Amino acid sequence: MTAENFDLLKEKLNGRVTDDPFETSFYTRDMASFPGFLVKLMFRVGAELAARPQSEEDVRQLVAYARDNHMAITPRAGGTSAYMNAVPVSGGMVMDLTGLSGLIRLDKERGVAEVWCGTAWSALEKDLNREGFTLCSYPSSAVSSTVGGWFSMEGQGIGSMAWGCFHDLVESAHVILASGEEFDADAAGPRPLSLFAGKEGTLAIVTRLTFKVVPLAEAAYHVSFAAPSAIVAAKIMDMAEKGPVKPFNGHFADRTCLDFQKRMGYEVPEVSGFLVTLSYRGAAADMAACRAYAETIRLKTGVRLCSDETAAEEWEERLYSLRIKRNGPTLLAAEVILPMARLNDFYGRVKKLRQRVSVYGHMMSGQQANVMAQYYADESQTLRYLFYLAKTKKINDAAIACGGRPYGTGVWNTVYLKRSRDPASLAEAREAKERLDPENRMNPGKFYRPPKLMPPALFGLACFAANLGSRVLRIGRRR
Ligand SMILES: Cc1cc2nc3c(=O)[nH]c(=O)nc-3n(C[C@H](O)[C@H](O)[C@H](O)COP(=O)(O)OP(=O)(O)OC[C@H]3O[C@@H](n4cnc5c(N)ncnc54)[C@H](O)[C@@H]3O)c2cc1C
Repeated sequence: MTAENFDLLKEKLNGRVTDDPFETSFYTRDMASFPGFLVKLMFRVGAELAARPQSEEDVRQLVAYARDNHMAITPRAGGTSAYMNAVPVSGGMVMDLTGLSGLIRLDKERGVAEVWCGTAWSALEKDLNREGFTLCSYPSSAVSSTVGGWFSMEGQGIGSMAWGCFHDLVESAHVILASGEEFDADAAGPRPLSLFAGKEGTLAIVTRLTFKVVPLAEAAYHVSFAAPSAIVAAKIMDMAEKGPVKPFNGHFADRTCLDFQKRMGYEVPEVSGFLVTLSYRGAAADMAACRAYAETIRLKTGVRLCSDETAAEEWEERLYSLRIKRNGPTLLAAEVILPMARLNDFYGRVKKLRQRVSVYGHMMSGQQANVMAQYYADESQTLRYLFYLAKTKKINDAAIACGGRPYGTGVWNTVYLKRSRDPASLAEAREAKERLDPENRMNPGKFYRPPKLMPPALFGLACFAANLGSRVLRIGRRR
C-alpha cells in the first residue's frame, strides 16, 4: 500500500482506519486463550490495518481499498467466537463491524425487521420491545454478539426449539463481495442467501439483514426439573419437543456446573444430576396447558419440580452461563452440537476424562443440543496449560462418536472437518469460495481446510501424547 492512497482512505473514513500496532493488537485474540508462542509459531496473527466503518459507504471504500491493494479482509463483530474465526491470520485488514448498528426499519404488518449487521442482540431486543415486538431467537451470547455474527455462524440458540435456525428466519441479506460487487441475497437466484449463511465471513461482508420478528408474547411460563441423570434430562427434552405447545427454550446444567456456581457464592438448587429448565411464551390462555403438560412430564419421568423462583432465575440468568469463568484463572471449553438422545453417552465419555468438567446446554431445533463442556485451567502455566488444552480434543471426539460435531470451524476446528462434515457439502462450500472469492481474500486461512502446519494426523498425535502425559502426570485430577 502506498502512503498516499492510505492517507486518502483515512480521510474518506474520517480517521476510522488505522495502522497503529497498538490499536490493531486489540484484534489478535477472541474468547479462547491459546499460548501466544504456539499461535505465533503457526500463524501470522494480526492485521496491518484495523477499520471501524460506520456506514455501508465506509464498507464499500474499505473493500475497494483492500481489492486495489490485494489485501485480506477479516470481518469481525462481537468477537465472541472462540476458534479464531474473527482473528486475522493472514495479515491485511480487520474490519470491526460493530459501528454498523441499529434497527433500520420494522414492518409490523409483515413481522420483519431490517437491521444493521453490527447490532448486538440484547440492544435489538430492547428496541423491538419498545415497538411491541420481540426476537424469535438469539444466541446466549446476546449481550455482545451481533446479528451479522450469528448469521455467519451456526444460528442456533435461545428460541431455536420453537423457531428453528436463525438462517431460516432471514428473508434477505445485503452482501458485499471482496471484488466490491454487492447485492441483496434472498432465497432464489444463482447466489442465494443459503450460500452465505454460516460461512464465517469467508465469502462476503453482510452489511444488513431482514428477518422475521414477532409481537411480544402475552405471557411466559418457566419450569425447572431436578433430573437425576442425563437419560432423564434427555427424556424431559424429548417429551417437551413432542408436547402440545413447543417450549420457546430448553436448557440444562449438570451438578458440576451448579457446583462451580455455588463456589462463587450463588445459591443453587439441590439437584443430583441435571437441572432442566423449559421456558414457554405465548398467549395467556396457552400457559395453563403448558403447566398441565409440565405436570405430565413430571409424572411420567418421576422427577421433582424445583421452585418457581429457581425456574424464573434460570431464565433471568440465561445469558450469563460464562459467569463461572471468574473462578478461573482460565475456563477452557469445548462447544459441541449433539443429538439430545445421545447426551447420556456423551456425558459418560466426558466424565471419564479425569477432569472436573461442567456440562451446560441449550436445545436447538431438530432434537439437537448445543453443549458447552467447561473446565478450569491456568494459562499462566504455559506447559501444563497445553496438557489441559489437549483435553478439548477428547471432548470433541466424544461428540463425534455420539453423532455430533464441534460447534463452528474457524481455524482450530478445521482439523475435524473430514470427520464432522459430509464431503458433498464441504466440496460445495469450497466451490462457492473459489467462485466468489477467487483471490482468497475474505477471511483467509479459515473454515475450508486445516492450516499446513496443523495436519489432522499430527494434531491427533500431539493431543494423544499430551493426554497420555496428563494421565501419567495426573494433570487435572484435583481441579
Ligand atoms: C457465553 C457464550 C454463549 C454463546 N452462545 C451461543 C449460542 O447460543 N448459539 C450460538 O450459535 N453461538 C453461541 N456462542 C458463540 C458466538 O457467540 C456466536 O457464534 C455469535 O453469533 C458470534 O457473533 P459475534 O458478533 O461475536 O461474531 P464474531 O465472533 O465477531 O465473528 C464470528 C464469525 O462471523 C464473521 N462475521 C461477523 N460479522 C460478520 C458480518 N457482518 N459479515 C460477514 N462475516 C461476519 C467473522 O469473520 C467470524 O468468522 C456463544 C459464545 C459465548 C462466549
